[in-house]
Amino acid sequence: MRKLVAGNWKMNGLAAGLGELTALKDILKSAPPACDVVVCPPATLIAQAAWTVKGAFALGGQDCHVQAKGAFTGDISAEMIKDAGASHVIVGHSERRQYHGETSADVARKAQAAWRAGLTAIICIGESLDQRKAGSANHVCQSQLSESIPDGAAPANTVIAYEPVWAIGTGVTPTIADIAAMHAHIRGCLVARLGEGAREMLILYGGSVNPDNAADILSLPEVGGALVGGASLKSQDFCRVVAAVKPS
Ligand code: PEP
Repeated sequence: MRKLVAGNWKMNGLAAGLGELTALKDILKSAPPACDVVVCPPATLIAQAAWTVKGAFALGGQDCHVQAKGAFTGDISAEMIKDAGASHVIVGHSERRQYHGETSADVARKAQAAWRAGLTAIICIGESLDQRKAGSANHVCQSQLSESIPDGAAPANTVIAYEPVWAIGTGVTPTIADIAAMHAHIRGCLVARLGEGAREMLILYGGSVNPDNAADILSLPEVGGALVGGASLKSQDFCRVVAAVKPS
């Protein structure tokens, strides 16, 4: 599988900022990346973004409802995200788990909704600082994986994003050795649960990835790419992260 670098714009971006995507498109055209690229703008911008980038790179949503349609005011279904022009959707981001009370069971249902709509689910997991300090990071991630990944998960429909909560938006990252160790642990959990085919499933690292640390993180063999928040908002920064993936 080619590595994947995904940008998560979170609740940032207005139509006036779509020039960042035009710039990204132009840079990637002049320097074709050695990885797949996805940008997940706010849902309000997906359709306009699709029109802007015209398939130069992929687009994703940041969350979806479990139902395809119905009386769920304010919610957005996976089918709507697909219809707007996306191919991926992030589910179970720690900010959804923290601020919206989403459980791993909810995340599993959202991943199934993503598949139903024909989207690749980017399933996020990761431990809190207290959990890491208590030595339970491996156990927490193992539980989140087993509860957030529905049966039927495969490399073609699912990407895992390991995002230690304490590294998101803080400028702090685990050591390279800790990232390698956790990715190896996650790989072991995936293979135990899904079988040998799970060796191909991409496991992204997320949490304060930036142009300066991307090369070290992305060169780890078990790191299948990155989920990038803040550094995805500016095309110049994001391109430097994308360029840190070297051809294999
Ligand atoms: C994220 O939002 O998934 C993320 C990793 O954010 P940041 O890169 O800003 O830490």
